Amino acid sequence: MRIWVDGGLRTAETALVSVLDHGLTVGDGVFETVKAVRGRPFALTRHLDRLARSARGLGLAEPDADEIRRACAAVLDANPADLARLRITFTGGLSPLGSDRGDAPPTLVVALGATTRRPDSTAAVTVPWPRNERGAMTGIKTTSYAENVVALARATGQGATEALFANTVGALCEGTGSNVFVVLDGELHTPPLASGCLAGITRALVTEWSGARETELPFDILDRADEIFLTSTLRDVQAVHRMDGRALPTAPGPVTAKTMRVFDERSGAARDP
Ligand code: PLP
Repeated sequence: MRIWVDGGLRTAETALVSVLDHGLTVGDGVFETVKAVRGRPFALTRHLDRLARSARGLGLAEPDADEIRRACAAVLDANPADLARLRITFTGGLSPLGSDRGDAPPTLVVALGATTRRPDSTAAVTVPWPRNERGAMTGIKTTSYAENVVALARATGQGATEALFANTVGALCEGTGSNVFVVLDGELHTPPLASGCLAGITRALVTEWSGARETELPFDILDRADEIFLTSTLRDVQAVHRMDGRALPTAPGPVTAKTMRVFDERSGAARDP
């Protein structure tokens, strides 16, 4: 495994970041997960734009998009795979122990992980605590993912692969690592960004390609929706066949199945939509 760190490729054993890196000590960093198909990153421009927006949200330096493109290409060349996930991490860099930032340059790491094509459907559960739709970090993809890790571990313990959050006013928000769509009377709906969800890239493509509406939805819509599906870089479009105790036995239903087909066709035809 070859990893990009400190401006070049290193082996896993020599790809080192300081124990004083602010990303490690206080989660002062941002990241992207990018799908790579046959050695080519998918939707890299959108991921780089979001990484830059996230870095701005934290007041980090501007990530160097050209360096990240070079790093992604080098990592993909060094680690051939049919389907893989690129992980781009960009942090506040070396700093004193504490919350204050040092003036060292940011740290950039690009690594590659394995992934597999996800099943067409999965089980999801609800999270019993809310996502804050008005926090300073709302909508920013920071490396502080502990809340998602805890919610996902809880879901795994219940035989599910995703956990869905409501926000503080009881509206449907998103999953720990995915956006959510519901079908109501044949129409596709997804929560607006004001719900506190991440501006998912798959969410944007599905909305554009399949004409979903952004609608504020009550959390208990999950008890009534005709169809439910999740979107993310690694899931693409994935139907929900069990939502908490409720079975959705026909998942993927007709609207979800059509959305999946359109997504497969359009994303297969465009490398950087
Ligand atoms: N919401 C959260 C919290 C996420 O971590 C992710 C995945 O990164 C998503 C939504 C889906 O975003 P994308 O489609 O860009 O992968």
